[in-house]
Amino acid sequence: MMIKTDILVVGSGPAGGTAAKYAAAKGASVTIIERRPKVGVPVRCGELIPSAEEISGMFPNAGDITSLFDMPDNLKVREIEGIKLVDPKGRERLLDFTGYTTDRDRFDRHLISEAEKEGAELITGCLFKNTENGKAITSVGEIEYKIIIGADGPGSKVARSLGLPRNVNSYPAVTAQASGDFEPYVQMFFGGIAPGAYSWIIPKKGQANVGVGFSPKFTNGTLSDYFEKFRAKHSLRVTTELEGKYVPSEGMLPRLVSGNGMIVGDSAGQVIPVNGGGIPLAIIAGRICGETAADSIADGRSLTEYQNECEKIFRRPLKTAAYNKRMADIFAFGSDRRTGICMKMLGPRRMGNLIRCKRIFP
Ligand SMILES: Cc1cc2nc3c(=O)[nH]c(=O)nc-3n(C[C@H](O)[C@H](O)[C@H](O)COP(=O)(O)OP(=O)(O)OC[C@H]3O[C@@H](n4cnc5c(N)ncnc54)[C@H](O)[C@@H]3O)c2cc1C
Repeated sequence: MMIKTDILVVGSGPAGGTAAKYAAAKGASVTIIERRPKVGVPVRCGELIPSAEEISGMFPNAGDITSLFDMPDNLKVREIEGIKLVDPKGRERLLDFTGYTTDRDRFDRHLISEAEKEGAELITGCLFKNTENGKAITSVGEIEYKIIIGADGPGSKVARSLGLPRNVNSYPAVTAQASGDFEPYVQMFFGGIAPGAYSWIIPKKGQANVGVGFSPKFTNGTLSDYFEKFRAKHSLRVTTELEGKYVPSEGMLPRLVSGNGMIVGDSAGQVIPVNGGGIPLAIIAGRICGETAADSIADGRSLTEYQNECEKIFRRPLKTAAYNKRMADIFAFGSDRRTGICMKMLGPRRMGNLIRCKRIFP
């Protein structure tokens, strides 16, 4: 098979779906390739989407994002009324936080269908392998493109083929669904239950997304063992297979553009290091990436403008969050006692700053 396209988007997650939609809306011909047979499946995500107000608070330079996050009501499975931070002794601190839980498979499919409405074409079951002379080598044949967008997640093959930096020190996380009635708060559990990160219960309707992440620096154990301990401790009735993935933890990569290629979303390290949230960033960056690519084809706009915009929006908050994460690694993680003391010292207001990519101390 030989395909020709203006813009090749590799990956059909939130970054790829959004980039494809905005590039196609500007008139470029867009092809999305996805290695999995079905968009969004299996779900490897906590499925929590902060409200547009929360996202604007974290990334004040993102401009008007209202329309970007104006999702159909049927994707908002459960409103979130706050976050409970739970220390190793089980003491809870409640933070104000607004957002909702989604079904991530339907969420990703919605973004892709929006891209398709603008004219983008999706090919599933198509693995990107490499680039050679302006062509992508894939499992279903060659694809000739003018611009390639790597939206292929944390271990991006596109980044590697473009000679761009790749994420280091990503940490693993696993998730599953559990049935039951859960209060409308996200619960985050810290300490030995999830060394160097946290475990979570994120409520949905009649079920919850439950999971564990950890930093390999703090344990030799396996994630499935930690998940089992967490499941047993909270008597969770798990109804699905455990699914896992790596989460970038060091902030945005220094270079996002090389020649006629760009990276976006997890592949670009656009993830909040301190809590692993990446969907809002993938969507904000996806729009800029797609529009810049289409403008480059239409009137020669430089792709580095995408990098410049991302620097303005993400660099500082993600640098602060990465710094906070390093401080947590040094002072808070390592033992339950230290974790408990640090959480007590910080208190809810500073813990709120931590979650929102703000400085903890002035
Ligand atoms: C367990 C877990 C829980 C999380 N919970 C949350 C949360 O609650 N809220 C939040 O905001 N973020 C969360 N995140 C982070 C969030 O899932 C990511 O930041 C987000 O999915 C990034 O979107 P993306 O489009 O960049 O990448 P992805 O969603 O990873 O999409 C990449 C796509 O590229 C495809 N692909 C990869 N390689 C190739 C290839 N070679 N060829 C073709 N296709 C390829 C993949 O199959 C995938 O579909 C969580 C992450 C994990 C691991």
